[in-house]
Amino acid sequence: GKRVVVTGCASGIGAAVAKALLAQGAHVIGLDRIASPHGLDKFLAVDLADPAAIDTMLTTLAAGGAVDALFNCAGLAPTQPKLAILKVNFLGTRHLTEGMATLMPPGSAIVSVSSNGGLRWRAQRALLLDLIRRDGFAEGLAWLEARADEIINGYAFAKQALTVWTLHESARLIEQGIRLNCTSPGAVETPMLREIEEKMPGAAIDAATVPIGRRSAPEEQVGPLLFLGSQAASYVNGVDLAVDGGYAATVALGE
Ligand code: NAD
Repeated sequence: GKRVVVTGCASGIGAAVAKALLAQGAHVIGLDRIASPHGLDKFLAVDLADPAAIDTMLTTLAAGGAVDALFNCAGLAPTQPKLAILKVNFLGTRHLTEGMATLMPPGSAIVSVSSNGGLRWRAQRALLLDLIRRDGFAEGLAWLEARADEIINGYAFAKQALTVWTLHESARLIEQGIRLNCTSPGAVETPMLREIEEKMPGAAIDAATVPIGRRSAPEEQVGPLLFLGSQAASYVNGVDLAVDGGYAATVALGE
């Protein structure tokens, strides 16, 4: 079977993705900072806020051979400190993805879970492009630290950066035969959403404002992620696929 890596495998969307891939017979390597309860083929503990730890983990992973697909599902909630969110949801995810791409043969695919919290990236496209031009974790962090006071919503900014980087980097990675796409979920019933509701009442998208009129189950995020990671999407590259019950459509129309 294919050798696939799922980050954030211990909870929510990542756990649902890992479970579905195992059921398909894939060899699933899970990454998380907390132990994972699922029947993974391998679990690697790593903190995505720590680039040196990511590099060590990549060395371990490389010893086991090539990786055919990467699903970036790990992320910190908006309830966490701003710089921690920016490190994990953008800088660490980018660092891991760049390293992982060196282990991936032509024909492989990377899919990241961004968010419809990052949909409004066009409003600050130039700023985000300036950030993604900072190569590497340390340079990116220096840029973010210098502008920390201007970044009001760290979660939205990190997701905007991840989406813009995905679109930008996809044109480069495809030269190696690797496709890079992301999804932007709306509100998904996971432990993260429960934490947001407890600590930031009113912050989560109100299901009543979403055309479909309800939230997503974690399992409803799996199909689009697996599709983008599969050969069925062999001509799909550089896409941000909204998996949000129609919310992005209302934003695009300015509603
Ligand atoms: P979750 O909290 O249930 O799962 C996230 C997982 O990421 C956890 O297992 C956690 O341990 C892991 N993680 C967090 N920080 C890490 C770090 N520093 N290093 C390694 N692993 C780390 O959340 P979820 O709702 O399943 O979120 C998955 C992804 O979906 C995230 O990127 C999130 O931003 C995104 N998302 C979620 C929603 C939602 O409503 N739940 C909406 C849009 C996007």
